[in-house]
Amino acid sequence: MRAAVTAICKDQAIILNTRPFKENDLLVLFFGRNSGKISSIARSAKRSLKRFGGGLDSGSEVIAHFTVKSSSALATLSEIELLDGHLPLRRNIAHLSAAAYVIELVMLATADEEANEALYDLLSQSLSLLEERVTPTFIRAFELKFLALLGYRPNCQTCTNCQAEVQRLKNDMYPFSIREGGLLCPHCTAEHKSVSHFLPEKSLFFLRALQRIADLKDALQMSPAPEITTSLDALLPTFISHRLEKPLRSLAFLRSVLLKG
Ligand SMILES: [Zn+2]
Repeated sequence: MRAAVTAICKDQAIILNTRPFKENDLLVLFFGRNSGKISSIARSAKRSLKRFGGGLDSGSEVIAHFTVKSSSALATLSEIELLDGHLPLRRNIAHLSAAAYVIELVMLATADEEANEALYDLLSQSLSLLEERVTPTFIRAFELKFLALLGYRPNCQTCTNCQAEVQRLKNDMYPFSIREGGLLCPHCTAEHKSVSHFLPEKSLFFLRALQRIADLKDALQMSPAPEITTSLDALLPTFISHRLEKPLRSLAFLRSVLLKG
């Protein structure tokens, strides 16, 4: 029998999810900048404020000290140092539900122990920006950057199937296929019959502009017409859910609070 190998690790991390486990322990899922998504157990965490004080809330950024054993699927989280608890976003239900949504997307899209530094930085920046403000356009911009980092960028330029030029239909709409991953030309529209959405021209142009923004915070300055917001809300979350092959559980609540705001 091979001896179990133990590695002692330290990494900058974002807490994704914390759940009670046994009497005093917590199960903590975190996303390490260099270590990827790690499932861990924080022993006696409910009693040990010294080792974990206030830093195990979902969305908190920490330095995680943990050990990984080759014989166990669960790492042991021994201690954390709190870097940023993102407290302002916990005071507003819209900001908090947006944070829950971006965290859920990262949680669903990542495999265990697979690092993705760019995705980590996107999540970290988003949580900071969400302390101040949340708009539907900000959420769409996050989704587009998220999709691009995963290699799922929606094709909004040419026909996704044959690269031909796309054409506006008589009603100013462009055929879009979630299954194919983007726009379709008239020929492929007729051939494939997989059109899931008809995208109004104004929405398409706005979507292209949103894909071009260099910095996520620029999205907070953009305020498209309500019908554009509505059509992109109907498109992008469905696109993501299809790509990840998973339902987005926190989406309905986020939608309800954004509509009220
Ligand atoms: Zn085509």
